[in-house]
Order: sequence, then structure tokens, then C-alpha cells
Amino acid sequence: MRCTIDINQNGKREGFIQLNHSNDRHAYGVIPIPIAVIANGLEPTVLLTAGNHGDEYEGVIILKRLYEAIASEQINGRLIILPALNFPAVREFKRVSPLDNNNMNRIFGSTDSPGPTREIARFVENELISQARYAIDLHSGGTMCEFHPCSYIYSGGDQQFVQEKISAAHCFGAKYTVVVVGTSGSLSAACERQGVVMLSAELGGGAIRKKNIELGYHGTLNALAGWSVLDSEPAKTSTEFLLSGASSSFIMSPIGGAFEPLVEIGQTVMAEERVGRVYPLETFSEPIIQIQCEKKGIVIGQRNQSLVQRGDFLLHTGEPVSEAGILEQSTS
Ligand SMILES: [Zn+2]
Repeated sequence: MRCTIDINQNGKREGFIQLNHSNDRHAYGVIPIPIAVIANGLEPTVLLTAGNHGDEYEGVIILKRLYEAIASEQINGRLIILPALNFPAVREFKRVSPLDNNNMNRIFGSTDSPGPTREIARFVENELISQARYAIDLHSGGTMCEFHPCSYIYSGGDQQFVQEKISAAHCFGAKYTVVVVGTSGSLSAACERQGVVMLSAELGGGAIRKKNIELGYHGTLNALAGWSVLDSEPAKTSTEFLLSGASSSFIMSPIGGAFEPLVEIGQTVMAEERVGRVYPLETFSEPIIQIQCEKKGIVIGQRNQSLVQRGDFLLHTGEPVSEAGILEQSTS
């Protein structure tokens, strides 16, 4: 893969990462993944990404706006911006790559699943994350899910590292920040492997909303200010932390059918509360299945399309946790 711009020079420039890809269109095609740099020195470097999943356009818009708005003179350090990370998916409104069916956010660090998606992830991990001190990856629920707008941090690392992630989440300023153990194949995990202070965000989903774009835009700017990368005083913002990720936090459909939600995102639900129903499609005689949550929590994200197959995601919850509680889980 080749980057068409010099990312080590001061100033503001845009170009492409070119991934060779031979297909029916031509033997010598490339996949042009947009990249931009705003640099005033190299340290610290912040990696800003969106379009990790191709049907999540909030972050694409936010990072384009940021590139328009920020002059190199306004920053200390360097912003590397990839607004359409899985570009083949972004341009075709697909969550995963239409070229190899791989989920970009499950393939970082992978040594199998060859294909364009892994090649992009490998370039990002080896050539860009390796130079970063901080990172923000902007997501949303895409076409299938709606999140209460929130940021996400991983719980791993020593106390200082976790504290830096907590501080970044306060600066981002979403009402909630979800704390998870995380998976090894995500961009967040790739950042954690290299000690990069990393925040991701879930900016709604289902429909594009002004308020979610504004949260992501101003949250990203304020995080940059909090890291002293942007030459302005950060606004005093804060977030509440929710612990999630255990299997008891996730509810999947036990049957195929039509899902009826009985709760809204952001709502507090009690243990064994009825949160939805699934209606079998074929007959009247089959029983309607009642969906209960296992434990008390706040609904973070919920499916926003009704048709489900057995095993499909319905909703997930998080339990409020204190900062001390998060730090207790850190490795030292
Ligand atoms: Zn996503």
C-alpha cells in the first residue's frame, strides 16, 4: 500500500492510501482510501477515524467538517484523519466490506482472513497507530441499531493509562461512556496494544441526526483541546460511566420473527423486566415470546429493525460504575 501524501510534513494536505486491487473493472485498479493530515510538528499525533463500518456516516461528516475547520496553525502536533476507513463499504452503504465480507473492526491484528479489509487494517495498525499518542474512532448504530449517543473506552491497562482514557471520555462529554473489556480485533484493541489513549463513540444510528453529529463534532474538538493538541481551553464537560460487555448485558432473539421493543434507549430497566416481544411470523397459534433482561441497567443500544432471526441482537444494557470501580479493574 502507498500513501500519496507525505504525512510527516507540516501543513494541511489530503490524498489517498492506495490499496492495489484487481477485479473485473481492471487488472491494475486501486482502492483509494481518503486520508488527510493537519500538522504543526509530529508530537503528539492523533489518529481520527470513521467509516470503520461502512453504513455509519455520522463520523464521515464530522471528520470532513473538522478538516475544513482546523488550520495547521491552530494545533500543536499532528492530526491524521481517515473519514472513510473501510472505503469499499462506505461507498456502497454496507456495514462490512463488499469485497471480502470482512468486518473491519474484527480484523485488526488478524493473521488469517486475507483480503483488502485486512490489508487496510494492517496498514493502519503498522504505519499510523504506531505513530499515534491518541485516537478517536467514530461509529454509530448504522442501519440496524440505535445507540444512546455515548463514548466507549476499554478497561485494560495500568491505572495511569485507564485514567487518561477516563479523562478523554469526560472531555468528549457524551452523557454516557460505556466501559468494556473489548475484543482483540477492533481498532480500539490495536490502539491498546501500542499504548495509544483511545476513545470510540457510538453516535446514534438508524437515522442521521443533527444532535448526534454535533455531539461528535464538539466532543472530538474538546478532546483535542483536552490533550492540548488544539490551541484552545477545553470546555468543562463530564460523562457517566456504564459497565457493559458481559453476556448478561446483551439480549439476543431466541426465535425468528418480528421484534417489538417495549423500552427506549437511555431507559433504566430492572432485573427480569419485560423489555420486548418477538412475534412468530407464520401462524397465530405459536406463542409470542416475551423478552426479559437479566439484570438492572440502562439501555445503551437497541435494534431498530423489527425482522429478526434466532440469535440476532435485540438490545444491550450497561450498569452505572464509579471511576474508582473502573480503576479497580486496571492492572496495577
Ligand atoms: Zn460501527
